[in-house]
Amino acid sequence: MRLLLVEDDDMIGRALVQCLQAAGFTVDWATTGNSAETAVRGSTYDLVLLDLGLPGSDGMTVLRALRRRDAALPVLIVTARDAVADRVAGLNAGADDYLVKPFDLDELVARVRSLLRRRAGTATPMLQCGLLQLDPVRREVTLAKIEVKLSAREFSLLELLMQQPGAVLSREKLETSLYGWNEEIASNAVEVHLHNLRRKLGAEVIRNVRGVGYKVVAPSV
Ligand code: CA
Repeated sequence: MRLLLVEDDDMIGRALVQCLQAAGFTVDWATTGNSAETAVRGSTYDLVLLDLGLPGSDGMTVLRALRRRDAALPVLIVTARDAVADRVAGLNAGADDYLVKPFDLDELVARVRSLLRRRAGTATPMLQCGLLQLDPVRREVTLAKIEVKLSAREFSLLELLMQQPGAVLSREKLETSLYGWNEEIASNAVEVHLHNLRRKLGAEVIRNVRGVGYKVVAPSV
């Protein structure tokens, strides 16, 4: 899952990137409204965390521009502006949720997950595909109730595929969801992780649709 963080405060930005990465998300960090607008034009994000007080184009302007481009992209406002009028304005402009600084990092991650679930149309955090089960909160995968140890990237890759069971996701889509701006990535990185997932979960679990991409298939064990 790839998130865009828009935050001009260096200390808060660093803390948020670290905490979201530890929770398994890929994070791009924009420090101005203008760079945020450029980022959403160039990449696909699953969610945006948006500060309101920004140099240049402010958060509300960014939010309106975002909504004109994509009505469904979840936006969580994270700001020091705590007046009710600010919250109402943010929500009315199309934000999905609102968190006032200072906030608890665990609560932030929980709200991000809740917004992503809502977008996926599922109320329960558990993802299931036949006997394969993935718990995004505890970051655990079980196959026929037996835990399978995955690396962070393998887990994120499987999570992406299990969020849309049956849907075929292209290698490019998987790559952009998995890797942020500043990460060096080998050209076959996604294939290597897919290979490892097949080795751990059984070859039939991830199917390659030639020329299109990959999908998850309920394991038959
Ligand atoms: Ca700010």
